[in-house]
Amino acid sequence: MKRSRIDEWMQQNERIVPWNRKAVERYQLEKLNEMLAYCRQHSAFYSYLPERIDSLKEIEMIPLMTEKDFIANAEALLLVSQRDVIHIVTDETSATTGKAKRIFYTEEDQARTVDFFSCGLGEFICAGDSTLVCMPGGTPGSIGSLVARAVERLGARATVIGTDKTYREMINALQASEANTIVAMPIPLLSFARYMKAERVKINLTGVLVSADTCTPEVEAMLREELDCEIYPHYGSRESGLGGAITCPAHAGMHLWESDLYVEIIDEAGNVLPVGSQGEIVLTTLRRQAMPLIRYRTGDVGVIYAEECSCGSIVRRLKNPRRRNILVLDIADADSVMFSHKQLLDYRIALSAEGCSLEAVIVKPIDEVELKKSLAGLLPDDMVLKMSVRRYNAKEERPFFSKKRVIL
Ligand SMILES: [Zn+2]
Repeated sequence: MKRSRIDEWMQQNERIVPWNRKAVERYQLEKLNEMLAYCRQHSAFYSYLPERIDSLKEIEMIPLMTEKDFIANAEALLLVSQRDVIHIVTDETSATTGKAKRIFYTEEDQARTVDFFSCGLGEFICAGDSTLVCMPGGTPGSIGSLVARAVERLGARATVIGTDKTYREMINALQASEANTIVAMPIPLLSFARYMKAERVKINLTGVLVSADTCTPEVEAMLREELDCEIYPHYGSRESGLGGAITCPAHAGMHLWESDLYVEIIDEAGNVLPVGSQGEIVLTTLRRQAMPLIRYRTGDVGVIYAEECSCGSIVRRLKNPRRRNILVLDIADADSVMFSHKQLLDYRIALSAEGCSLEAVIVKPIDEVELKKSLAGLLPDDMVLKMSVRRYNAKEERPFFSKKRVIL
């Protein structure tokens, strides 16, 4: 098996020699101390940080930062002048605070992201390939344009079409660009695969990367089956700099962007958990200029594996990252169960005082009793569930969600 590209990439870019865990951790400690000094120097907000730490373990003494802290102190968290900011992402209004979250990046921040993307995409994209990028694009610095830059660096062509196209428009773009690889969000891509099958459109893909939303192992398996190619889930967030962790040829978790991120897993009380335990993902950016974050609670959960990967990489891996659920129903669990019905194209769920309503779109006749039962099995026993099912509209159908999937 081919070793992940990430080892060589990181080793060469950051000149980490010899290439072993000790050297990687020495590098991380050095960058972390530089980051602590940088933050203290450029923002009064960060005056609580220590001058330096003598081991990575000592990071645990630094207070955690929550999304609430982030939003309340947004101005103080921008460490460069406005004229050095080349891209701003405004997040949807946070459910917990009711305020929008703005994240800033410098050119250098984004260049590092592009470089990391090209490392991850290079696991399956080669020179001469063509890639359809179903991610928000249009503006320089948007995720779609960063992915396109990364694809082009590999000598391949990129066609950015955004996330709001109809399935028919997606097919047109796929055929016009002769794409053999795709970058997309997992569920819209699964729906697209089912639409193409229903419309008898034949495609020949060599690999796809899914990102920007949870991809459960069940959904990943369904994507592999429907698209008949390897699936490379990627983990990242706006706070992590859009990059985060990439899948290697062994498909045994995602190798973390350890040159730029120090990642911890904590329990609900904020205690750091040993590797191999499931808990909340906490990020510390090691190289970010515009908006570095020190021990930021992402609200995502996952598990870190420290042992060497079966691909031969020594870079730590993140497994099964997903949003932490705060509702009676976890959308990622619902996706795994609902899409196991192969006739399902897409669905959405709304919760209200009256109960739960499910709207399903199908490509072929479906056993409606079974479909309803699947979702009911995930809901509290006394919850009323209403369901409507309709057949897809070949001309106008598009994915229900053009952003992260949510329960309405
Ligand atoms: Zn690996």
